[in-house]
Amino acid sequence: MTKLFLGNEFNDVFESNFSITEDEVCETYNNPDLVQELKIGVKLSIKKLNKEGHRSNLLLCVQDKGDYSLFIFSYWIPEEAVISFAEPLSILQNFVATFGCRIRVGCTEDFFITEATVALKHSLKHPDQVIQVVGSEHVPCQYYFFHNNEFIVSDTLVFLDVYYAFSVNNNKYTSWLYKLTEVGVKVPKEWYNRLSDLVEVLEPNGKTQLKILRPKHNLSIHETSEKEKLEDFIEISVPEKYRHQFNYISNVLTSLKPNEKIVIVPSFSAPKCLFCDSKNVSKEHIFPKWLKPFLDKKIFNSTIYLNDSYDESTSYDEKLLSLFQSGVEGHKENSHGYTTQTVCRQCNNTWMSNIENKAKAILAADDERLISSLAHINKDDANILSRWLLKISLLLADKITYYRVFSVNEYKNIKAGYIPNGVIVEVAYSESYSLNFVVNHGANLLVQIGAKKISIDKAKKLAESYFVTSIQIGKLLFRVSYLPPSSLLLRKASLKRTETLYPWKVDLPFHELDTGEEIWSGSVSDGLELHMFNFSMILVDR
Ligand SMILES: [Zn+2]
Repeated sequence: MTKLFLGNEFNDVFESNFSITEDEVCETYNNPDLVQELKIGVKLSIKKLNKEGHRSNLLLCVQDKGDYSLFIFSYWIPEEAVISFAEPLSILQNFVATFGCRIRVGCTEDFFITEATVALKHSLKHPDQVIQVVGSEHVPCQYYFFHNNEFIVSDTLVFLDVYYAFSVNNNKYTSWLYKLTEVGVKVPKEWYNRLSDLVEVLEPNGKTQLKILRPKHNLSIHETSEKEKLEDFIEISVPEKYRHQFNYISNVLTSLKPNEKIVIVPSFSAPKCLFCDSKNVSKEHIFPKWLKPFLDKKIFNSTIYLNDSYDESTSYDEKLLSLFQSGVEGHKENSHGYTTQTVCRQCNNTWMSNIENKAKAILAADDERLISSLAHINKDDANILSRWLLKISLLLADKITYYRVFSVNEYKNIKAGYIPNGVIVEVAYSESYSLNFVVNHGANLLVQIGAKKISIDKAKKLAESYFVTSIQIGKLLFRVSYLPPSSLLLRKASLKRTETLYPWKVDLPFHELDTGEEIWSGSVSDGLELHMFNFSMILVDR
């Protein structure tokens, strides 16, 4: 018998996650109870190893590589699957029907695909792209397939024969393997499918964090409505660790008014530092603690606009209304404790605290008031303030919209002291004295786009990478915006004249409006000054 080669995959996946030892694999390989040789050297073996309870039958797959056998996978198989089927391939198929996800290979879609042919087009650049898991991209799957001919990408169409393709949903398998209990939670029928998709992606031990974003305009508690008839509910099974969260979600859903929605955002990986990828993150203040004595405490109440619900035929006013109504509440937090989890200790204690000290020295007029004008600021200080504001804007964008404005490298450059090309930082002055912010990214209805040379559709497409944040600190209104330097669009200020801090003293075009002052003073008296300031930047073509 040829030697068995285990490889790193065995230790990383099967030994550490699925409690399978090297001895158990070797025993199954050397003395199997059942064995079946399949096409292209694939061999399945099954061995009853008499371990406790449901971890007794091990299924092993190896592939013959000439002078050795390569370990491919091994799984503990439920006893009933082994009893009812005689052949290892049928046992594997039965196992996959229970723990797998539907997959697609070429034009074939199923849980287990015994044989299929895939046309390798240009778009397929890696063998992994041959197999697609159907459904949520977040379902943590292990997937397997075999092919006998070479994987080549060429100008002419090449065909690849694929055998025994399937995937295993790690969550379902782990739940069974470690006997994790599930509980039933009653949820409104119309949400069943969406919540089922969500359950599929949950890490069964409770490690998946769920952020629930609620409708902005529905803050009333649980109203009795027609919806609450029992037949409108259906039970969904969720891992026990998520019982409370799903009960809460169900309550929120029950109290929704017609057409209102919530967004549930699962987060899977441990948070990493935005600026250096370190996992050693801690809770850090977005608005620094040194600002505390200068500003009254207030409650931030951010909104996320989901502008996907209106159709093209409705009027602009209706669209705008629908956009505002689609707002879901992001976070409601005290400004003095407004924190992020995406900054590491190292960054916080080095370059960030360094900028904080410098920003404080520039902005604090005395121990009680912040300065109210930057008319006499010099270039170096303007640069420091711009970096400081950019840092705050990026943390806000990440916290509120989960949006990353720049590439990983550019975040690292910001840490090193650079401001990416395409960033503009401006300042204007307010009548009020406050702490507040507005964040926007992409081309939504709140961004005014004027294009003459290119189509408005193209301009909107170009504006997708547009990012703008306005921050009021005391009397100072700051606006940090970004467009890729190569963009065909230009930024123009309107309504309120600004001074540019970065790039230093650059002239930003200003769009004069006859009614500009009127609109501006209206927004000031409505308390929408900062919103208006943020959205008074117009995008035009060059
Ligand atoms: Zn860091």
